[in-house]
Amino acid sequence: IRSRCRIIISTSRSSFQTSTNKFSTHFERKLEGKVAVITGAASGIGKETAAKFIKHGAKVIVADIQRQLGQETASELGENATFVPCDVTNESHLSEVVDFAVSKHGQLDIMYNNAGVACRTPLSIVDTDLAQFDRVMAINVRGVMAGIKHAARVMIPRGSGCILCTGSVTGVMGGLAQPTYSTTKSCVIGIVRSVTGELCKHGIRINCISPFAVPTAFSLDEMKEYFPGVEPQDLAKMIYNASELKGAYCEPTDVANAALFLASADAKFISGQNLVVDGGFTSFKSLNFSHLVQ
Ligand code: NAD
Repeated sequence: IRSRCRIIISTSRSSFQTSTNKFSTHFERKLEGKVAVITGAASGIGKETAAKFIKHGAKVIVADIQRQLGQETASELGENATFVPCDVTNESHLSEVVDFAVSKHGQLDIMYNNAGVACRTPLSIVDTDLAQFDRVMAINVRGVMAGIKHAARVMIPRGSGCILCTGSVTGVMGGLAQPTYSTTKSCVIGIVRSVTGELCKHGIRINCISPFAVPTAFSLDEMKEYFPGVEPQDLAKMIYNASELKGAYCEPTDVANAALFLASADAKFISGQNLVVDGGFTSFKSLNFSHLVQ
């Protein structure tokens, strides 16, 4: 019995040490061997997500309309990133980028429809510029629809895959942006819901990520219009100050973390959802009672 106890103690000690060491040194690569296409990956949220996916073992196709920046981003991200020029308003570009991923890497596991633009129309519905509405819809909505369509085309025969789309808090709650942009982002959330059922039958998950304001080229350019002359770092501070969550603000890495989670096996039973990354912002409205206490 004594010798048995010694064996048990020594075994448990050594396994404890092993697991402790494992815990301190082991980095789990959550997307090992996966192939991803990310639209709008030349900058901002898309670029951050591409870097995270690669760190976790994926090969990423950086698909973007900006040729030079896209090329520079892919070089910066290293050998597991490849740039493919792509305008999401052109269906054949999306078809080609999906086919490129399959011919280069043999498969497509993750399609992240992230490309999107802001809209600088006046805030009132009365002044809405419908030509601009059509242009923004073509990028933010039609581009997402086409990306899903072509990803599904190659994922359905394999019976697996993961599709992600970037929505926005402005698509969840009214009054956070002008109607055109908000409408496009509500549509993205709606598209995800509308195709979940069909894709489920083929083992394909699809989810949306709706971020709060993040200081990227997208949001800083838009803010410059409303606050001319204010330095970019001060505009970024203004965005950070809009956070309701004490001690935290939304950064591209928070959105990339959400994308990594949804793309990984950690989310293997999650589909048809809109993961809102907003520090609680859209869940409540603060009430100021001070005027009542007089
Ligand atoms: P960003 O400007 O840094 O990145 C957007 C990328 O999309 C750019 O690289 C741009 O070249 C690309 N793009 C634009 N039009 C394209 C087209 N027709 N075809 C292909 N690529 C195109 O901005 P970001 O903040 O990283 O935006 C990424 C997504 O996040 C967008 O869908 C945006 O609506 C959404 N979003 C942004 C914020 C924010 O505050 N930054 C908040 C919520 C949602």
